[in-house]
Amino acid sequence: MALQTMSLSGRKKEVSNKKMTFLERLYLWTIIKGMMITIGHLFTRKVTIKYPEQVRERSKVYRGQHLLKRDEQGRENCTACGLCALSCPAEAITMTASERKPSEKHLYREEKYASVYEINMLRCIFCGLCEEACPKDAIYLTESKVLVPSQYDREDFIFGKDKLVMPLTEAMKNAQLKNAN
Ligand code: SF4
Ligand code: SF4
Repeated sequence: MALQTMSLSGRKKEVSNKKMTFLERLYLWTIIKGMMITIGHLFTRKVTIKYPEQVRERSKVYRGQHLLKRDEQGRENCTACGLCALSCPAEAITMTASERKPSEKHLYREEKYASVYEINMLRCIFCGLCEEACPKDAIYLTESKVLVPSQYDREDFIFGKDKLVMPLTEAMKNAQLKNAN
């Protein structure tokens, strides 16, 4: 096969070198063809939305911001077992385990707890595997529509316990709801 006839896509067009006529040199028909394509787009379904005024409907399996849960007594559920970090495909989770002191029984449910728990939001892909791996019902991906805000420094994307642990008031509200049912 000659080299000049080869075409991988099968859509190759031979370029004609014949001299253009006067009408062709006016480019009128070409301009009309281009305008027809542009006008045609005015009547097709729009694929863009006016964000942030409009927000797309999220999937039923949407996973938002992580939450480290507390139990009905307001104690942190996490026992720093490390299973979430092990199962994380993005290696986004790090933690430091500490032993609970007798005076801290009201703060942590188990004898061991995470004194440091961090998720690198630049790495996280919101897959939910950490939630599935957790044996203590401690980490959840919420339905929060608030996305990770933009920042200038990488350190600001490391979310620590201050951003991840469920607020105490929310834990108390949950306990009240549970008692009422
Ligand atoms: S959601 Fe997925 S990527 Fe993000 S921290 Fe959990 S396991 Fe890692
Ligand atoms: S969140 Fe769950 S899996 Fe992760 S360290 Fe805590 S208890 Fe273990």
